[in-house]
Amino acid sequence: RMTNALLHPFAPVAKPMSDYINIVRGSGSLVYDDTGKDYVDGLGSLWYCQVGHGRTEIIDAVADQMRRIEAYNIFDPFTNEPADRVAEMIVERSPFPDGRVFLGCSGSEAVDTAIKIARQAMQRRGQTERQVVVRRTNGYHGTNFGGTSAQGIAPNREGWGDLVPHFVEVPHDDLEAAAQVFADQGDRIAAIITEPVQGAGGVFPPVDGYLEGLRRLCDQHGALLIFDEVICGFGRTGEWFGAQTFGVTPDLITFAKAVTSGYQPLSGVVLSRDLSAEFEEPGFLLRTGYTYSGHPAACAAGVANIELMEAEDLVVRGRHVGGQIRDGLEALVGDGLIESWRGIGAVYAAELGRDSIPVRNEILANGVIVRPIGTCLAICPPLVISDDEVGRIIDTMAAALK
Ligand code: PLP
Repeated sequence: RMTNALLHPFAPVAKPMSDYINIVRGSGSLVYDDTGKDYVDGLGSLWYCQVGHGRTEIIDAVADQMRRIEAYNIFDPFTNEPADRVAEMIVERSPFPDGRVFLGCSGSEAVDTAIKIARQAMQRRGQTERQVVVRRTNGYHGTNFGGTSAQGIAPNREGWGDLVPHFVEVPHDDLEAAAQVFADQGDRIAAIITEPVQGAGGVFPPVDGYLEGLRRLCDQHGALLIFDEVICGFGRTGEWFGAQTFGVTPDLITFAKAVTSGYQPLSGVVLSRDLSAEFEEPGFLLRTGYTYSGHPAACAAGVANIELMEAEDLVVRGRHVGGQIRDGLEALVGDGLIESWRGIGAVYAAELGRDSIPVRNEILANGVIVRPIGTCLAICPPLVISDDEVGRIIDTMAAALK
């Protein structure tokens, strides 16, 4: 047959196996295919690799944990030290040092759980009519049914039949539109879900005052604010979380990706202290969770990754990386090669004003990985990337654009 057994995510199903690039190894900000060709990983794989590839500190921590016990569930009555430790380390760096953390494996699991928790909170408050979740255009919240329903990227919602009811969409940059939705049905809204910086939808930082405005609307109308920080979390926007970068505190934060830099699949939801307290009523059973919630090897990867980020001060280094990228993109604008750029911290989009796929293909052929999204190219490299490697990304983009 033409194709192999594997079905690739977000890929043309008929694409022949020989057209895929087989990545076989990585080191720092470089990855290598099976022909030995090297690529600068300008997207940190898929927006997740902060510490770079091949870090033995994390690999050894995972192997050490697996030699003790490879896995054991944390459903009541069990627990394990890596799960407990990583939860502690995450809350300490979040806006909720006394909050609680639910753990899963993927961003999609985190998003669906955050939506369930927000809905459950309203049910427990006796506000059973509050089921509406407000989503934004361009929003990407994973591909489980909750996250698919929360998507603001319309094609991702289409073709699956009925989705989860009670989602309402607002234009991503229009606070007035959100205010109108609250004016119309504020007493039915359970939550707003938003990325602080929209990532997969095209790298859109919030317009001035937008996140503050959403916070205000939620407070005025008794709704919960969910920040989906699956890309923003763990240093991508210049602080540990986007909530801190933008100075706006939500009620729930979802995270995944960079919590382990991808060395193991780990995700979760952080709950504020107030929200945690609502669920801490004696006898209340949180009736949701995954087999691999708190998987000790994944959690050991999280602990080692956060330790490594601390030891190398990578949150601060990310700001430097961002400066290098901005300078490069500014030069591309100056040379008339791109229309504009947008982004913050160490996540950017170069706006070409035309289909970016052919340009990406040329850049890829020349050994640099960036992500085409509509008319832009996204850049989101490891936070350890060298200035020279950022230079290689920009130079390769410039050559392709010329
Ligand atoms: N939420 C956001 C903001 C994301 O960027 C992503 C993935 O890119 C997800 C959720 C889904 O994460 P996963 O693909 O791990 O399920």
